[in-house]
Amino acid sequence: MKAVRIHEFGGPEVLRYEDVPDPELRKDHVLIRIRACALNHLDLFVRKGLPGVNLPHILGSDIAGEVADVGEYITDLKPGTRVLLSPMLFCNHCEQCTTGNHNFCKQFAVLGNNAEGGDCELIAVPRVNIIPIPNSMTFVDAASVPLVFLTAWHMLVGKAKLRAGDTVLVLGAGSGVGSAAIQICKMLGATVITTAGDERKLEKARELGADYTIDHYKQKISDEVKRITSRRGVDIVLEHVGVATWPESIKSLKYGGTLVTCGATTGFEAQLDLRILFARQLSLFGTYMGGQGELLDVLKHVFAGKLKAVVDRTFPLAEARAAHEYLAHSEQFGKVVLTM
Ligand SMILES: [Zn+2]
Repeated sequence: MKAVRIHEFGGPEVLRYEDVPDPELRKDHVLIRIRACALNHLDLFVRKGLPGVNLPHILGSDIAGEVADVGEYITDLKPGTRVLLSPMLFCNHCEQCTTGNHNFCKQFAVLGNNAEGGDCELIAVPRVNIIPIPNSMTFVDAASVPLVFLTAWHMLVGKAKLRAGDTVLVLGAGSGVGSAAIQICKMLGATVITTAGDERKLEKARELGADYTIDHYKQKISDEVKRITSRRGVDIVLEHVGVATWPESIKSLKYGGTLVTCGATTGFEAQLDLRILFARQLSLFGTYMGGQGELLDVLKHVFAGKLKAVVDRTFPLAEARAAHEYLAHSEQFGKVVLTM
């Protein structure tokens, strides 16, 4: 099959479109013919070099396609079924897995990160990863959903305990997590303040339902939040930007507010004045992915049409390098997807 692999860590130039052997189908696995695989910032981090990545390596976490073949032990899936894949691998029998906390499993891995991913034509995965999609859903839309909607759902619902009436500051409306979070907040009855770096993105954020928008290059986020909330601050901040926005995110919280973060695309070394943490009685949560049950929860709303994939543009698999360069420039609103 064709695949995009890295043989060394580095810039977009290390991505190689090449022939690799087809995956072997185990008796308890399902072989998927991949039709679409969405990019995430995780792909850029893995390409630049992360521990636990064996080279050569196939990137790509968010996969949609058709069942091509099933292992001998699989009796409930037929070739041709249209599916998306849960991006997580886990043991499915430890205490964490059996209580729904799959992202705490000792064997937890993410496709494309510490396991081979979907920037290729075929992949074999366990049955539990296979989630059939409605006929009306395109493969590109289906591939755009799993990682960012799971992440945003776990952050807002699982960790921050979002309730109707809350006001939420969503950083980076144009990111995959941001565009998912805006929709989840609105569906659950929250008020959304969001940020982006240009008017085109702010307009798209309002189309997704954002109540208030802040241009983070022209306006000071915490000043705008104070003005919008009559100096109270927000109940929840959804962070993933890191160093560039962290001080403003902390300042934007109400007394007793909750900040939840899943990433740091602008840098990791943020500072925190501990007096503000304890005197304002803030809660800070770090999250990484979520449980398989949470993925199924949020997908119900996606399949019902209440939450929508936000796709910026697609690239053919052979042009993965251009897709990486495009994502790195942060021009996109929503997901960048490779098609096969
Ligand atoms: Zn486990």
